[in-house]
This record gives sequence, C-alpha cells and structure tokens, in this order.
Amino acid sequence: MVCCFTQRFRKLRSRLAQLAGGRTLTLIHATLSVRHVTCGKKGCRCTRGERHRAVYLVSSAKGKKRQVFVPSAMEEEVRAWVGNYHMATDLLEQVSEGAWNELKRRKEEGDS
Ligand SMILES: [Zn+2]
Repeated sequence: MVCCFTQRFRKLRSRLAQLAGGRTLTLIHATLSVRHVTCGKKGCRCTRGERHRAVYLVSSAKGKKRQVFVPSAMEEEVRAWVGNYHMATDLLEQVSEGAWNELKRRKEEGDS
C-alpha cells in the first residue's frame, strides 16, 4: 500500500517535470464558448435563420471578465491550450496532495 503510493507520487512528480521541462507548453485559463450569431450583412443566410458558428474564448478569472473571438483556423490550437491548463492544474493539485501524504509517511517511518 505504502509502496504503491510512493510509486504513484514519484510518477506524478515525473509527469510534472516532463510537463514543465519537456517541451514548450502554452496554456490558458479560460473556456471556449460556441455561439450562433448574425453578421449583419444584408441578404446573408444568417438573416434567414442560418446563423454563423462563432467561437469565443472567455474568462472571468479574478472577477475580471474577458472575451475574444477565436478564428476557426485557430480553434483547435486554442482548445489545446485550454486543455493544457486543466491538465497542468490537475497535476499540480495531485502532486501537492501527494506531498502531504509523503510528509506523513516519512515522519511515521522516521525517515529523513
Ligand atoms: Zn451572416
């Protein structure tokens, strides 16, 4: 049990090191919002109810609202940035949680 836990903790920290040092990583704390909009051009299909798909990157971190239109050519890339943020924060939380347990385990074992 203790052994499995230690292995898991080691693995988590290794993943974190890879994430931070292995490659250039872009991450962003925001969500993508898909909306269906009208463009305002006269006679456009959107005036007949066929609205355009538009993607926005939105954030309300620290009470500050921000949003920006994401061109469709960049949607996939930006979606990956959002995913990277969640992956990184999940991993940080897990390593942090593991560190609490690691400290407890080492104290119980009289390890230093
Ligand atoms: Zn239109």
